[in-house]
Amino acid sequence: MQIDNSEERIRNIHQDLLEVYGEQDWHDDKDGVRQLLVTILSQNVADENTARAAENLFKDFKNYEEIENASVDELADSINPAGLPQTKAQRIQRTLKALREHGDKEDYSVEFLGDMEDSDAQDWLEEIKGIGPKTASVLLNFHFDADVMPVDTHVERIAKRFRLIPFSASNGKAHELLNEAVPHDIKNSFHMLIIEHGKNNCSARNPTCEETKLKRYCSRYELVENGDLTPEEYPPEEME
Ligand code: SF4
Repeated sequence: MQIDNSEERIRNIHQDLLEVYGEQDWHDDKDGVRQLLVTILSQNVADENTARAAENLFKDFKNYEEIENASVDELADSINPAGLPQTKAQRIQRTLKALREHGDKEDYSVEFLGDMEDSDAQDWLEEIKGIGPKTASVLLNFHFDADVMPVDTHVERIAKRFRLIPFSASNGKAHELLNEAVPHDIKNSFHMLIIEHGKNNCSARNPTCEETKLKRYCSRYELVENGDLTPEEYPPEEME
C-alpha cells in the first residue's frame, strides 16, 4: 500500500472529519506562557488530569515568578494529577527560566517567538530540555497560528492508518512529513479533528470502524476488517 498524502486527499479527509465531528474549538489560552505550561502538564496524560493539575498550579501559585522559585517538591505536589510530577515540575521551571532570561526585560513572555521564523521559534523552544516537537508546535500553532502541525499519539497513529505517513516514521519524522503535507489553512482544524476521531472511534486497540465514513481512507480497515489480516498482523511488513 502506497503512501498518499496529496493535498487533495488530505482536504477530502478533512472534509469528512468535519462532517462527522463538526468544527472544533480553537483553544488559544490568550496567555501564551500559560498555554505552554499547560501543554507541558498535558504530556502523556488524559485531558481530565491536565485540567486538574492546571487548576492546582494556578491556584497554588500567584504568578510565574512564584512557580519558578518554588521548590521542585512543592511544585510537584501541586501538579501531581498530571503524572511524572518531579519531571514536569523541572520542565516548567526550566521553561520559565528560559523565557525570563530571554531579552532584557526579565519578564515571562512568549511573544518574541511570534517575530521569529516558525522553524527558528520551534528550535528555540526545543532547546529547552523537556520540550519536544509536539509541545512546541501546540504553542506555535494555537497561539501564533504558525504553519506547524502538532502531532500527538492520536495524530501519529491515524496518519499511519490513513497512509499519510509510513509506519516506520518516528514521532519527529511524523511531524516533519505532516507539516509538509497538511496545508496551513487546515492544520489546526485537521489536528483537532483527528484527535476527536482518535478519542471517539479510532483508539489504538479497539477502533470502532463501522461507525464513520473515515474507514474509506484506512489501511487497517481494508486489511483487518475485511479479513485479510488479523489485528496482530497489522501493519504488514511492506507498510513499514
Ligand atoms: S476504520 Fe477503524 S482503524 Fe481505520 S480510521 Fe476508522 S476507526 Fe480507525
